[in-house]
Amino acid sequence: MIQEITVKSIITKSGLPDADYVINPYVGCANRCIYCYARFMKRFSGHTEEWGSFVDVKKNAPDLVPVNTSRYRDKALFLSSVTDPYCEPERLHGVTRRLIERLIPLAPRLSVQTKSSLVVRDTDLFVQFAHCEVGMTVTSLDEAVRQEIEPSASTVEDRLSALKKLHEAGIRNYIFIGPILPNITDWKRIIEATRGFVDCFMFENLNIKGTVRHHVNRWLAESHPGLVDEYTEIYSRGNGYWQDTENDIRSYCAAEGVEYKLYFHHKSTSKNLLLEPS
Ligand code: SF4
Repeated sequence: MIQEITVKSIITKSGLPDADYVINPYVGCANRCIYCYARFMKRFSGHTEEWGSFVDVKKNAPDLVPVNTSRYRDKALFLSSVTDPYCEPERLHGVTRRLIERLIPLAPRLSVQTKSSLVVRDTDLFVQFAHCEVGMTVTSLDEAVRQEIEPSASTVEDRLSALKKLHEAGIRNYIFIGPILPNITDWKRIIEATRGFVDCFMFENLNIKGTVRHHVNRWLAESHPGLVDEYTEIYSRGNGYWQDTENDIRSYCAAEGVEYKLYFHHKSTSKNLLLEPS
């Protein structure tokens, strides 16, 4: 279900690393990623439907961007934390595009992250920022896996094509490799296949918390039953697997001269990933 709503504010202070402010043009997200961390937003939305089946379009959001202010100049402004700013409703409603148009005179350091090739549509706007980067999430180069885990997002091919177009337009870009799915996400292969047209690689580990655990477990049991025991083992030995992965990423990127950032969660993980009720 897609409906238009009116909101009272649109630019919020961010608790994210590397972002001073964040904008979410939509409530909900149509991409239906099985590992979605934003599901908790449902309880603030008033929706009873399943997460992924509704999107509220903040139709007045662009009008809430102030016109005369230096408050956001050179501040890191990120789209988006709990939705994809280019998820399917954007094609029709264009809220993200109108928001970005309004942001140009405010001169923030803009960062946009998506799983949609629609982002290329707004290249004409991105080039008007002194500082702008556009990121594409890529968790696997395998299109069959993409269909399992991000069923309503752009294909792998379309995402890589979008990154190339952004690169050719002179826009700084990055690939967000996250969440890393053990034994599925081949991050070295992603880097090797794209480093000719991608400026930076960002990494995040799979952080099983809340209802994410239930959805990941269900997907594993249905599509990769042979990995169930391995994931259980990874989470039962706490952060050992992730520390090894982090060390591997650091050594590889240093040796290969790859620019990278790590967003690994090092708080203790559930020892009962596959055993606890969701
Ligand atoms: S794109 Fe982000 S917000 Fe949307 S479903 Fe996927 S993980 Fe959730």
